[in-house]
Amino acid sequence: MSRHMEILGHSLVGFRDIAGCSDSFRAWNPATGKQIEESFRSASEAEVDLAARLASEAFPAYSRLSQRERAAFLRSVASRIEGLGEALVERAHLETALPKPRLQSETGRTCNQLRLFASVIEEGSWVGARIDRADAQRKPIPKPDIRSMWHAIGPVVVFGASNFPLAFSAAGGDTASAFAAGNPVIVKAHPAHPGTSELVGRAIRECVREQGLPEGTFSLLFDAGNTVGKALALHPLIKAGGFTGSIAAGRALMNLAASRPEPIPFYAEMGSTNPVFLLPGALAARGKDIAGQLHGSFTLGSGQFCTKPGMVFLPGTAASDAFRSEFREKVAHSPKLTLLTSGIRTSYEQEIQRRNARRDMRVVAQGERPNGEAAFTAEVAVFETDVPALLAHPELGSEVFGPSTLLIAFSDKAQVLQAARNLSGHLTATIHGTEEDLREFSELAEILRNKVGRIVFNGYPTGVEVCHAMVHGGPYPASTDGRSTSVGTQAIFRFARPVCYQDFPNAALPEELKNENPLGIWRMVDGQFTQEQL
Ligand code: NAP
Repeated sequence: MSRHMEILGHSLVGFRDIAGCSDSFRAWNPATGKQIEESFRSASEAEVDLAARLASEAFPAYSRLSQRERAAFLRSVASRIEGLGEALVERAHLETALPKPRLQSETGRTCNQLRLFASVIEEGSWVGARIDRADAQRKPIPKPDIRSMWHAIGPVVVFGASNFPLAFSAAGGDTASAFAAGNPVIVKAHPAHPGTSELVGRAIRECVREQGLPEGTFSLLFDAGNTVGKALALHPLIKAGGFTGSIAAGRALMNLAASRPEPIPFYAEMGSTNPVFLLPGALAARGKDIAGQLHGSFTLGSGQFCTKPGMVFLPGTAASDAFRSEFREKVAHSPKLTLLTSGIRTSYEQEIQRRNARRDMRVVAQGERPNGEAAFTAEVAVFETDVPALLAHPELGSEVFGPSTLLIAFSDKAQVLQAARNLSGHLTATIHGTEEDLREFSELAEILRNKVGRIVFNGYPTGVEVCHAMVHGGPYPASTDGRSTSVGTQAIFRFARPVCYQDFPNAALPEELKNENPLGIWRMVDGQFTQEQL
């Protein structure tokens, strides 16, 4: 047995033997409110250090693999995850209570995202090769030969998210983009779904072994509290981090990453309220339809989406009557919904109580209420306020994680534009409007462009397409670095850095920068994009 398996194997394989350890923990079944039988154990300090050292040892060999070899690894991970079939969906359902069809499609999304990154690195041009040829005749001094491209950054720590047990967890987007760029990955599994993470973690470890990759290419560690996560963020051999979760945790980890003697980039995707602007023409034409669709969007996944529309601006006039009455009906008839963890349910209930008690908010409607059951259930709840109250108390617009949203009435154009100008950073903003609305509110999209990573027109923000052009990020506090995305193939740049070669002999250059362009990739040569040889 390898050194890695002997020690880290406890976290991945031998968890049933260690029940009763002081640092062991169990997952909960949100649908019953009962603990699931198997125990998992937090990694020890020595195991965290070993995982980091193995990842660091793996880095040179893994990052030197050809793009084709890395692509083959990513594809093998996708196939292995698919091979887990119903067992994976069953386990994720047990630990999250998310509906099985949703988990099946999340499995598909996870595998497609691995294959999408495989195709990007196989094609190869993502490295952004740039070549500025030398000019010995340049006056007053000769111009050197300068070439650059993106290289892997080093071992990456990834924090699994509670709300996407597959697509933002062990083999999720952060892991896929870090692997694709050429980095070993250590995943700190989310404690809400350790069994799901273990199944996926084992699948990745099998692929590492089959493909003959260094054992430190991938590790998965558990943590009953915050010790392991903090130790990983602070470990000197870790070179970058990816996170999805709350502002408090993301900010704490970003601060830790920045406090190190060698600060590292830490990409946290955090809280977002995703404002929606319902303009008068759209409400007049489609008010009832919008009400039904918006209800579907803010209750999707029991309202536990980072892209959930949590603020809805609408005219405080008769223009919104059809929308309001349909929306109220839908909410009042909503069944109670199951949340992911008891912590999320407690925070949600506290926030609903706070909103109920505020004088500057009123309840629009509430759905079926929990009846003291052990399951982590909560009611759908919608509140209303107005723009002056929001301007006076911007905290009214903060994220409530769960099936609730806030209607915000505006009196006129000036008021809604002022509200838009006052927004903090969000992942998305949505505008529902007619062509006339767009002319009338022409400044709105321009204001929102500076506030969010994605602007949706006449749609809903909850679906996030995994593709080349997607941007899933936004100015703080939506993320810790609004220049990047955690979904889509541009995410590869978070775990890479540009390196420049000056006056290097052709034979010593990476393939991507050699004169003959052996990989046939697109390169910028003296300012022009080309696939030609030099
Ligand atoms: P969380 O509390 O942010 O935790 C996410 C991960 O970070 C967990 O593995 C957690 O481990 C770890 N962690 C938390 N605080 C830490 C700290 N100070 N230092 C190191 N690691 C830390 O997210 P969650 O567990 O999902 O909690 C739910 C809340 O997160 C929701 O109420 C919601 O506000 C937010 N959330 C947002 C999104 C989004 O996409 N925007 C997604 C999911 C959740 P432990 O659990 O062991 O502490």
